[in-house]
Amino acid sequence: MQNETPPLPLQWRRTKIIATLGPASSSAAAIERLIHAGANVFRLNLSHGDHDSHRELFTRVRRCAKKLKQPVAILMDLCGPKIRVGNLEGGAIELVEGERIVVTCRNVIGSPGLIPSQYRNLYKDVKPGERIFLDDGNFELVVEGVEEKEVHCKVIYGGTLKEKKGINLPDSTLSVAATTAKDRKDAELAVELGADFIALSFVRRAAEVVTLQRHLKKLGREIPIIAKIEKPEAVANIEEILQQAYGIMIARGDLGIELPAEQVPLIQRDLITLARQHHRPVIVATQMLESMITSSRPTRAEVGDVANAALLGSDAVMLSGETASGRYPVKAVTTMDRILREMENYQWQHNQFGGQVLRRNETKLPLREAVARAATLMTESLKLQGIIIPTRSGITAQIIAAARPTAPCMGITTSEVVYRRLNLHWGVVPVSTTEEVCHDWRKLSEEIARSHNLLHSGNTLLLVSGFNDDPTLNEPVMKLFQLENV
Ligand code: PEP
Repeated sequence: MQNETPPLPLQWRRTKIIATLGPASSSAAAIERLIHAGANVFRLNLSHGDHDSHRELFTRVRRCAKKLKQPVAILMDLCGPKIRVGNLEGGAIELVEGERIVVTCRNVIGSPGLIPSQYRNLYKDVKPGERIFLDDGNFELVVEGVEEKEVHCKVIYGGTLKEKKGINLPDSTLSVAATTAKDRKDAELAVELGADFIALSFVRRAAEVVTLQRHLKKLGREIPIIAKIEKPEAVANIEEILQQAYGIMIARGDLGIELPAEQVPLIQRDLITLARQHHRPVIVATQMLESMITSSRPTRAEVGDVANAALLGSDAVMLSGETASGRYPVKAVTTMDRILREMENYQWQHNQFGGQVLRRNETKLPLREAVARAATLMTESLKLQGIIIPTRSGITAQIIAAARPTAPCMGITTSEVVYRRLNLHWGVVPVSTTEEVCHDWRKLSEEIARSHNLLHSGNTLLLVSGFNDDPTLNEPVMKLFQLENV
C-alpha cells in the first residue's frame, strides 16, 4: 500500500526528466510551466532550426531558470551523420508497394519515383539485397542495383514520404564521418553559449567521442559528452564508450531501426546496468509517452515503459516530440513525474532503489564502489534523511548517487556549472553555496539540514567528500554529524 502523502525524503524525485524544446514549448511562459511541472534538463535538438533561434532559446531558458531559482541544465544534441531525404516536389511523394524507384545521390528535387539522399556517398555504401528504411522505419526499400550515383530499389512497405525524413541503412557499413562539418559548427555554438552537455548522435566507437572532446578543448570549453547509443557498433563497443564519454543516452528511436526492435528491451536493461557500474549517467529516450503528442492521456503500455525505466535505475528519462511539438507538453511532464514518483515511493518503502550493479566475479571492490556502498549501508542502518556531499567537480555526488542510497544526495557546490550538471544525475539534489560556508562542514550541514528539512526523524547527518576527477588525488572522507542547534 502507498502512503497518501509521500514521506519527506521523497520530496525530491530521484529519476530526472529531460524535456525537448520545440515550437510547442519555446516561449518563456511555456518553459516556466515545464520547470514547475518538473523538467530538470532541457534538450535543444540541433537537427532543427538555425543558430540564431537556438541562441535565443538558450538565453531564454537560462533566464527562466534564474527567475525560478532552479538548477536547470541544457543539453545540446548534435545531429551527427544522420542521413536524410532531400527536398521533394510539393513536400511529399507517394511510395507504392512493389513499385521500382530510385534513390539518387545527385543534388536534385525529388519527384514520384525519385528520392534524393542528402548523404552524397550513399551509392558507395549499399549493395543489392540490403534494406533502406525511411521515416523512422515506417517505409522500407530493398536495393536491387547501383548505377553511377543512382540506387535502384523496390518498395517493400510504402506510404506518404515527406521531405527531410530520416534514412537508416541497417545492413550497410557506412563510410560517413562521425562528426560532420555541421556538428563542428554546432559544437562552436554550444561552446559560445556554455551548454551543460553535448549529445553526440550515431556514435560507433570511443575514438569518435575523443575527436569531439579534442575539438571542444581547442574551442576552449570541455563540455561533458553524452554518447547516443543508436548503432549496433555502439552496443558492441559499449565498454570503451563508457570509459570515454560522460554518460550515455539509449536513443531507442534509431536503435530500434538499426537493430530489430525486439532486441531493444534487453539492450536497454544491460546498458543501464553497465552505465551504473561505470558511474555514468544513463538516459532512456524516445517514444516514452508518444501518444501524448495528440492525446491527453498516455497509453497503459507507455506508463509501463516509464515505470520500467525507473525500476531499472536509469538516471533520466527523456521526452522528445511530446514536449517539442505535442498538444500537451506540460501534461506529458506531469504525467512522467507522477509515474516516477509512484515507482520511487514503492522502491523507497521496500529499499529497492535500483538494486545492486556489481560486476560478476568481483572479489575486491574499487575504492569509489567501496565508499559508495559504505555510505549507502550507513544511510540505511541509521535511517538517515540526507547525505551531505560537498563536491568541487561533482564527482563525489555522482559516485555516491550511483549506488542508489535511500536518502537524497545533497550535491553541494560553489560552481554554477556543477550545480546545473548535477541535475541530470539520479538522486542528486543540487545545492549552490559559497566558498566560505563550504569550508566549515558542520556549519554547512546545519545550514542544509535547516533549509531542506532533513532532520525530521533524528539529528544525525552523513557527510561524504573527497573524490577527484584524477583518481590519484582521491582522499575520500566520511563524517557523521550529531547536530544540536537546528
Ligand atoms: C533517438 O533516435 O531515439 C533519438 C533520441 O535521437 P533523435 O531524436 O535525435 O533522432
